[in-house]
Amino acid sequence: MNASPAGLETPPVLRLRGIRRAFGDHEVLRGIDLDVAAHEVVALVGASGSGKSTLLRTVNLLERIDDGVILLAGEDVSDPRTDADRVRGRIGVVFQAYNLFPHLSVLDNVTLASRLVHRIPRAEAERRALGLLGSIGLGDFARSFPDRLSGGQQQRAAIVRAIATDPELLLLDEVTSALDPELVGEVLELVRALAARGTTIVMATHEMAFARDVADRVVFLDAGRIIEDAPAREFFAAPREARSREFLSRFL
Ligand code: ADP
Ligand code: MG
Repeated sequence: MNASPAGLETPPVLRLRGIRRAFGDHEVLRGIDLDVAAHEVVALVGASGSGKSTLLRTVNLLERIDDGVILLAGEDVSDPRTDADRVRGRIGVVFQAYNLFPHLSVLDNVTLASRLVHRIPRAEAERRALGLLGSIGLGDFARSFPDRLSGGQQQRAAIVRAIATDPELLLLDEVTSALDPELVGEVLELVRALAARGTTIVMATHEMAFARDVADRVVFLDAGRIIEDAPAREFFAAPREARSREFLSRFL
């Protein structure tokens, strides 16, 4: 199937087709088509209320859809018979804030999914988690509870937790927007390092300079529709759509 002279075609990590979602009369996603290739970093931008979070939640099956198809590495995960927990085990997610379980140590937060979902033995999960935490300077906080960490440290721990299981796709929903300005940089640096390592990322963000530097593509959402989907450099240098230009002008 799909054999080509070059060998087997690899499906995109994520393919969305015709995704629709309404809350009551309010159509929040109005037919979203999107492909994300392996190792691609896609910045999802748009005004507050444009549907970014709903779209990310949809991909992670936290939000049901009214219409459309979600393919994860070629598998239709929007099929109602899909085991949502199994799909979520393949996707890492970090939200704006309150990602860590407050009653668990940082180490237990990071190893929880590996142990419970992926059935990795505790010793092995902890060895890996300690390596990851150490690599971002949080080794000394492994046994601490989240409230001992700054907001930036908590978000970095949450990102490490999200990648601890080697997910196929990492979804980041405005991971710096709840942080004090001086803590934003350390979190963005971690995202930048993951991007450089080839992690496939879809990130909703208001950090335009960061999106320009790190994202391969920018997807601009307006009222539940993709208005522009362009290489990041093009989107920021010469946005094609009037609404993209108007949106970007707010950040000048
Ligand atoms: P963004 O992340 O781009 O700010 P959201 O996806 O959070 O946008 O929201 C898009 C729209 O959907 C907003 O108008 C929001 O009020 C609405 N919305 C989101 N979740 C719900 C919900 N559970 N019930 C009703 N309306 C919702
Ligand atoms: Mg949002």
